[in-house]
Amino acid sequence: MLQIKGENIYMPFESDIQIVTKSLTEFKNDSLSGEKQVINQKKLQNIISDLDLENYAVNGGLTGKSLELFLNKYLSYSTRLHHPAYLGHQCAAPHYASALGALVNGFINNVPSVYEMGPASSSIEYFIINWMLEKIGWKKAPVDINSDYHDLDFGGGVLVDGGSVANLTALTIARSKVAPEVWEKGSPSNLAILLPRVSHYSLEKAAGILGIGKESIYLLEIDRKGAIIPGKLPEVYNRLIDDGKIPIALAANACSTAVGIYDPLEEIADFCIENKVWFHVDGAHGASALISEKHKGLLKGIEKADSLIWDAHKLLQTPSLCAALLVRDHKYLDKCFPQEASYLFHEKVQPGFDFIHRTIETTRAGLAEKLFFVLAAIGEKGLAKFINNQYQLAQDVYNYINNLNDFECPVRPESNILCFKIHGDDKTQMEIRNRLIIEGSYYFTTAKFNNERFLRLVFMSPNTTLQHIKKLISRIREINSSITSTKFF
Ligand SMILES: *Cc1c(COP(=O)(O)O)cnc(C)c1O
Repeated sequence: MLQIKGENIYMPFESDIQIVTKSLTEFKNDSLSGEKQVINQKKLQNIISDLDLENYAVNGGLTGKSLELFLNKYLSYSTRLHHPAYLGHQCAAPHYASALGALVNGFINNVPSVYEMGPASSSIEYFIINWMLEKIGWKKAPVDINSDYHDLDFGGGVLVDGGSVANLTALTIARSKVAPEVWEKGSPSNLAILLPRVSHYSLEKAAGILGIGKESIYLLEIDRKGAIIPGKLPEVYNRLIDDGKIPIALAANACSTAVGIYDPLEEIADFCIENKVWFHVDGAHGASALISEKHKGLLKGIEKADSLIWDAHKLLQTPSLCAALLVRDHKYLDKCFPQEASYLFHEKVQPGFDFIHRTIETTRAGLAEKLFFVLAAIGEKGLAKFINNQYQLAQDVYNYINNLNDFECPVRPESNILCFKIHGDDKTQMEIRNRLIIEGSYYFTTAKFNNERFLRLVFMSPNTTLQHIKKLISRIREINSSITSTKFF
């Protein structure tokens, strides 16, 4: 029989993928049922040796029975995002279909950055960007790409590796608008940025990368919920102008990371339009509410923004990473990066669209497939229903916890993020979290809000119910009384 060159590396694919499917199905079922520990944090050195990494790296052989054994161990040390007690970071408990999208693109390795390197992948990305543009209320890009493409008015976007990169890209575009000379002369020294007092740290990082130091970050006043106070915008803005600075952008949260509160976008947008300031909305977590009839009002005024970032890997049941950077006017995005590489950019017959000139990255995975596969499996109605459920659960949990005498919530939630604490100091909250993680019964984070440490629940698993949270509250009480009693002796 004719031996296909290179076949040996693909030979066990069909049987191995069955092993993978079986292991993952078990993992998913055990996670959803809540019977296994949500987290099992053994020491790094133990995991390296238990998984026999050294042996496999040197000798190979991770196939068949070995693969099955390896996967069982690997999964036993893995955090279970589908578990009802997973209340941790804002990473999706992915729909299985989205994982298939990742597998398919990972297998064929078609790169959507350059159309000829992945016409199908690139087309799906183009479609997904348009789907998002429509949800925002911005004009979709034409699918018949003619020579007048660059002069027409419509929105634009690109998928990138995470909200942090998306924020950096957005601010780079905003900078190009006020200082188009940067690529020739470098960044002017008087550039500044307006950020809310609570914003994701990736924005400060992005500002720093663009040469805008802390002294040129003007912080916007926020109310008790942590939302920007529109009436106080002129004060900060005037101070910036008096200092002789030029603002590249004003950013707002939709929603904030720590407590999930939406800024009043409409009023902020009107201020930005009046003062000709680029309005950037960080919707990494909360922009997904745009697909819910019930909750899209939280982003009222979003259509007046200049740019938006939107992570599908948070609320759209999509695995990491799949983040969108979107702009109302594609021209700023298309002109932002003027660099050219002769092997990539040249006159060619172009039946499609190259995304490469819109990104910091060169090679990128097909990120759109992950979102498209879940979207196509359950439809946008299915995703909207998931979001509605998670947002409702946060309300139900708030109503429950806020009525308990020994607990408090700093704000009523507006998304699927809820902060609360048992009466006691910051140390007590940290100790409670540590103990729950060590026993592996619940996994959640903590956050500082108004200078106090709170326990922070993010409802990501589709299987979490109010009953699970009631059990958590009882467990917290038990731990708290054991902490308090050990303090006495
Ligand atoms: C999660 C988050 C980010 C960062 O996104 P990554 O995809 O984790 O890089 C930025 N902004 C907000 C508001 C977020 O919630």
